[in-house]
Amino acid sequence: MIRDPEILILGAGPAGVGAALALADHGVRALVVDSGFAAGGQVYRPMPDTFAPNGTPGLGPDQEEGARQRRLLADSGVATAFGRLVWSIGTDLRVDALGPDGPEFWRPKGLVVAAGATERVVPFPGWTLPGVMGLAAATILLKSQCMLPGRRVVVAGCGPLLFAVANAVVKGGGQVVALADLAGPGTWLRAMPALLGRPGDLLQGGAWMARLAAKGVPLMFRHTVREARALGAGLKVSLGAVDANGRPMRPARDRTLEADSLVVGHGLIPSTEALRLLGAEMYFDAEAGGWVPRLDDDQRASRAGLYAAGDGTGVRGAVGAFLAGRIAGLTAALDLGRIDAGQHARAAGPLRRRLAQARRFGRAMSRLMAPPSGLYDALDAHTVVCRCEDVTRAEVNQALESGAADVNQLKSWTRCGMGPCQGRMCGDTVAQIVALRTGSRAAAGAWTARVPLRPLNVEALAGDFDYDDIPLPTAAPL
Ligand SMILES: Cc1cc2nc3c(=O)[nH]c(=O)nc-3n(C[C@H](O)[C@H](O)[C@H](O)COP(=O)(O)OP(=O)(O)OC[C@H]3O[C@@H](n4cnc5c(N)ncnc54)[C@H](O)[C@@H]3O)c2cc1C
Repeated sequence: MIRDPEILILGAGPAGVGAALALADHGVRALVVDSGFAAGGQVYRPMPDTFAPNGTPGLGPDQEEGARQRRLLADSGVATAFGRLVWSIGTDLRVDALGPDGPEFWRPKGLVVAAGATERVVPFPGWTLPGVMGLAAATILLKSQCMLPGRRVVVAGCGPLLFAVANAVVKGGGQVVALADLAGPGTWLRAMPALLGRPGDLLQGGAWMARLAAKGVPLMFRHTVREARALGAGLKVSLGAVDANGRPMRPARDRTLEADSLVVGHGLIPSTEALRLLGAEMYFDAEAGGWVPRLDDDQRASRAGLYAAGDGTGVRGAVGAFLAGRIAGLTAALDLGRIDAGQHARAAGPLRRRLAQARRFGRAMSRLMAPPSGLYDALDAHTVVCRCEDVTRAEVNQALESGAADVNQLKSWTRCGMGPCQGRMCGDTVAQIVALRTGSRAAAGAWTARVPLRPLNVEALAGDFDYDDIPLPTAAPL
């Protein structure tokens, strides 16, 4: 690890690795910082070295690409700091992290933010019960722990992760009791032209479907979870039909199933806390998953020395993240004077063309992952919206009726989003509800980012100290 990086890269997913490799090519002193124990991010998350799995569920070719990127990063000689949670970034780009040996900080000249995405789960009665987990969270369990989310699993929500997770559960010897997809077959067919551009992914999708069919997994298109209830150590899950906008069909003919767990997710949201903390200019783009930074064609954000790439700038997938990361790295090298504009253009041009293609595919996937608006209309008054602070939809409505005009006012009035997750879980839902009044997500606003960026142990941050050593301010004269 180095103490004085010229460029610090936050995140070692494909975007961060891409940036690191480009910086290494041009002799820039870079440091990659990530809370994980190795590079790979979400999609290429490795298993701990100490694991010796047999007959693992896993998630296929991702493991190989992850190993390749880790090898490239190691061979590049770029310094890495794993197991470090970045909790604060100052306007002078001082980056503070908490690592295994306590607090650390760096003062780079430039920062590439490659912080990835966060999972979205639209609430329903029972979503906070043990045994209910996110689709993306289930991929973490499957990839890094080789563990099934349950023996008998209901998989529900929207987007390609539905089929990836159901397939991994079946492959790992579990049973998928039902797969409830908010989309209809027509929605998938409309995405086909974009999928045809990536035949490998299309083939993989076909293989997943074939395995699910062979195992007799019931596919319930245009269905959603109405409710989950505890049943002994398991769950009772009610699934019901919805229209194309996600609104419940009447009369509702719900089907109730018993399972050990319910895995449910509604796409991904760009993680923009670090960029918002630094005051980067943002705009709302529903198709990209939410609020995203305004970037120039070279991945520069709106302030000097700040670059961003990957899903944290709009959910477009791993291939696009890697390419955008490489462009961000090249641009940082250009701004440091290590390459000239001609070298930058020659190197970035082909990457940009491949990025445009990857983004077309990513956009099609994002559309499949976007929850329809009717899901939010259908949220009933008693449903908990903010699970950290136990705030219900009724309380959110009451605050709106009392005059809360945007998400930040709503936060002060209800404590919604003030818990340990800092609104990462509830923020999108709350903003959708506010937008039903304000008319748009842009008008509903985004929560002001605050430190710590992620929950951390304050005791570990403070370290060992003696109360007698704390300097006390002298009392003001009377
Ligand atoms: C939980 C989850 C699971 C997913 N699973 C899949 C999958 O199975 N297949 C698939 O195709 N796509 C999956 N995705 C989407 C996938 O993340 C992206 O398409 C791709 O990995 C984006 O790459 P990235 O480099 O932009 O971000 P990521 O790969 O998410 O990498 C971001 C990195 O930043 C680090 N980071 C963020 N904030 C901090 C901080 N404050 N301090 C320290 N480190 C930080 C994270 O630890 C992470 O390693 C998943 C997304 C999520 C959220």
